[in-house]
Amino acid sequence: MATDFTKKFFEDNRILKARVSYAKRPSAEELERLSQSLKETYHATEVILEEEQNEELIGGYVLQVGDRIFDNSVKASFDKLQEHFKQEKGNGNVISVLKSNLDGLNGEIAETEGGHILRLHDGIAAVDGMSQAVYGEIVLFENGTKGLVQNIDETEVLCIVLGDEQELEEGDRVIRTGKRAGIPVGKEILGRVVDALGAPIDGAGPFREEDWYLIERKAPGVLERQPVNVPMQTGILAIDAMFPIGRGQRELIIGDRQTGKTSIAIDTIINQKDKDVICVYVAIGQKASTVAQIVSNLKKHHAMDYCVVVSASASEPAALQYLAPYSGTAIAEYFMDQGKDVLIIYDDLSKHAVAYRALSLLLERSPGREAYPGDVFYLHSRLLERSSRMDEAHGGGSITALPIVETQGGDVSAYIPTNIISITDGQIFLESDLFFAGNRPAVNVGLSVSRVGGAAQTKALKKVSGTLRIDLAQYKEMESFAQFSSELDSETKEQLAYGEQLMELLKQPLYEPKSMEKQVIILGAATHRSFLGIPVKEVRAFAEEFYQWFAQNYAAVLDEIRDTGNLSDDALEIIRNGAEEYKKVKGYGKQ
Ligand code: ATP
Ligand code: MG
Repeated sequence: MATDFTKKFFEDNRILKARVSYAKRPSAEELERLSQSLKETYHATEVILEEEQNEELIGGYVLQVGDRIFDNSVKASFDKLQEHFKQEKGNGNVISVLKSNLDGLNGEIAETEGGHILRLHDGIAAVDGMSQAVYGEIVLFENGTKGLVQNIDETEVLCIVLGDEQELEEGDRVIRTGKRAGIPVGKEILGRVVDALGAPIDGAGPFREEDWYLIERKAPGVLERQPVNVPMQTGILAIDAMFPIGRGQRELIIGDRQTGKTSIAIDTIINQKDKDVICVYVAIGQKASTVAQIVSNLKKHHAMDYCVVVSASASEPAALQYLAPYSGTAIAEYFMDQGKDVLIIYDDLSKHAVAYRALSLLLERSPGREAYPGDVFYLHSRLLERSSRMDEAHGGGSITALPIVETQGGDVSAYIPTNIISITDGQIFLESDLFFAGNRPAVNVGLSVSRVGGAAQTKALKKVSGTLRIDLAQYKEMESFAQFSSELDSETKEQLAYGEQLMELLKQPLYEPKSMEKQVIILGAATHRSFLGIPVKEVRAFAEEFYQWFAQNYAAVLDEIRDTGNLSDDALEIIRNGAEEYKKVKGYGKQ
């Protein structure tokens, strides 16, 4: 009985709340007609029509019923018109576009799902009326600012505001776009500095968009990939010789602040000149002045021509810092899909994790270890998994990633460092002590590793650097023992001198990448102990001069190494004899 009554009560009393916005108030009859038609459409017994004046609509009206918005304003038609022009990129049939849109102006009403901003704080907007919204969808606020759907509750959706929050107000209209976040891409993006949403910030105007790439994309599957076996030379002797990186590999650069992390990445970019590799440098949470400095350095070394810089600086909202690496990867994927080899640098992921932590706390997600949210591992694994080398059927392109992580007091066992170490294929560990002792790049040979690089090293380099790590480890051990004894036998002395020379030879100033053949010549001679007898302070200059001399006198050997990547026993013999010969030329006798 009671249920029947309730049912009947509700059937008899269906109150409908709707809201109408207009630029100019329609006449009373028109509003009455609207109420009447709403009553019929929604089978309501009563219609409460809220009214709102909004000059920006120019003309027409916007009607909202529940989470449906019927936009019949002049502004919407104009926006649509503009969108069309943008898509046609000015080279379509303008007249027909105009005509079809003018037709739309008179007839059809754009129907979208949307609601209003309920609350707004710290770059997060809670909106209603979005029962169908999906995670990662872009929503559009009344003033054109975009938002990204993050949390979906029964009654409301939390979005991060991708723009200036100051320009929004509670009560503003929001509509769904039905699209996920993406950025514009095109060949002309090369040489540009863009923000996390792909908009140029270098003051050189827009670039020609050719495609639209989703910021988040699923990583390629196992079957689409091929093994990593082509080298990605950094031009840094200490890395290429001992921790070679292959195309498609993810090698972490980790170390305390100011240990030369960024420098290694920039040197690697500079070394890609004329190697047909596209570079993407993603700056996350850095000072804008630092980014400007990096861009000017890249320009100075003519590296900007094949480089894209994506920047979300420290002053930008956490949301943009969170998105920047994904946007950078989307740009990298655009080039990879064209069969290109791409190098991407994330500088740095510690700041990225901090930005995500800030965002997650504001989104009221529960904090876990070190107050990071539970999914912080997934944050980086889904990002780094997108670096891969595709097989020939899928274009044969590749993305090599050099993520950077900053440690505190050399602690690699902190939460974020251990996470990323476990995701990557090895790490270059930079040490403050080495850095301050003048061993720059400050690569710690014992703790650094490259898990797939061996297969990607050129045979020539492998041949001459095979014993390098062991030699250096022995030297380190012997060095600590030697401190305690005053009398050393000649063999130990030689071993120490040799180790010292190797350490010296691995020092490398900024912006001076060494070519593969140069590395082979220098190491070929050094590991044969051909440089013994030369004072440690002079050995680097000597090696440099020896290489120049060798290049002039034995150009054929150099060409062979460069072209084949191989080093025959004969060639190695020529290098070693050459070193002895040059020593004589310079007046150093064999010990
Ligand atoms: P941060 O933690 O601030 O990001 P970082 O670890 O990225 O620092 P860099 O900015 O690359 O370090 O380098 C710090 C300083 O060390 C710079 O002034 C740079 O010029 C110098 N430096 C780095 N590598 C070398 C090198 N191989 N030879 C000489 N100087 C170097
Ligand atoms: Mg840095």
